[in-house]
Amino acid sequence: MAKVAFIGLGVMGFPMAGHLKTKGGHDVTVYNRTAAKAAAWAEKFAGKSAPTPAEAAEGCDFVFVCVGNDDDLRQVTSGENGVLKTMTSGSVLIDNTTASAEVARELYEAAKAKGVDFIDAPVSGGQAGAENGVLTVMCGGDEAVFEKARPVIDAYARMVGLMGPAGSGQLTKMMNQICIAGIVQGLAEAVHFGKRAGLDIEKVVDVISKGAAGSWQMENRHKTMNQGKYDLGFAVDWMRKDLGIVLSEAKQNGARLPLTALVDQFYGDVQALGGARWDTSSLLARLEK
Ligand code: NAP
Repeated sequence: MAKVAFIGLGVMGFPMAGHLKTKGGHDVTVYNRTAAKAAAWAEKFAGKSAPTPAEAAEGCDFVFVCVGNDDDLRQVTSGENGVLKTMTSGSVLIDNTTASAEVARELYEAAKAKGVDFIDAPVSGGQAGAENGVLTVMCGGDEAVFEKARPVIDAYARMVGLMGPAGSGQLTKMMNQICIAGIVQGLAEAVHFGKRAGLDIEKVVDVISKGAAGSWQMENRHKTMNQGKYDLGFAVDWMRKDLGIVLSEAKQNGARLPLTALVDQFYGDVQALGGARWDTSSLLARLEK
């Protein structure tokens, strides 16, 4: 059993911290900016909460963070009451936020200066993956530190991989989002076409999903897309944040991402339609408006 802190009890963090307590059997202290959520977590999991990230992290072997973006991450780690204020030599900071590779490298160095180890560890698998403890975790950092952290991360994961040095977890998550953007746009166009052609979408998917056109998105989203329902988790606002990170990284490394840039604009159209909180399959809505 390790002494663990978890900072950020959102859609993802709340159940992830729960798995660290129940499945991992760790001694978990949580912090959340909106205190009511921390109180709800402590009640649900018979755990503890602290009033600041720094106090939650005090004396911990592992500190997990899952907040919104780069700035949020800086605030709860290297800010005034951030976890690095109290974390001590030999402890490990694990960041599950989807953020830039740049902030991951920056935190790796800031942590190292205090003798603290850092792993960037963004996740994929959505709300359902977090609730069922079956996330995919893409890590960047030092191998020995990864080996130490892996059994703890296992509490909320089905697949955990070390992809390279600090920042590599975030770069891997970027590849993941590039794939999703293109696949969802393709699926949206296919469903749109099928409806116009008068096809029975369920029947078509039943057949083509077994062939080369099949995908997780097709399997899990065609039905709700066909019904015009877009309330299945990962929001368009988050996707635009992620694609913004991808496009900025591509500007630095010279990668050409014409489709990703276009789909990012399409998600902008969905936001303008009022779909900022719709899930990412809502690319279909802008084709049908
Ligand atoms: P969320 O439900 O909006 O929760 C965000 C959490 O971060 C909340 O606990 C929020 O506190 C906290 N937070 C934000 N800014 C903060 C700040 N400046 N200081 C302190 N706390 C702050 O988001 P989520 O869906 O859990 O996503 C979290 C991260 O995981 C994001 O980077 C997202 O891109 C990534 N992700 C999400 C999914 C998904 O399906 N949702 C899938 C993969 C990856 P409050 O409660 O006070 O607002």
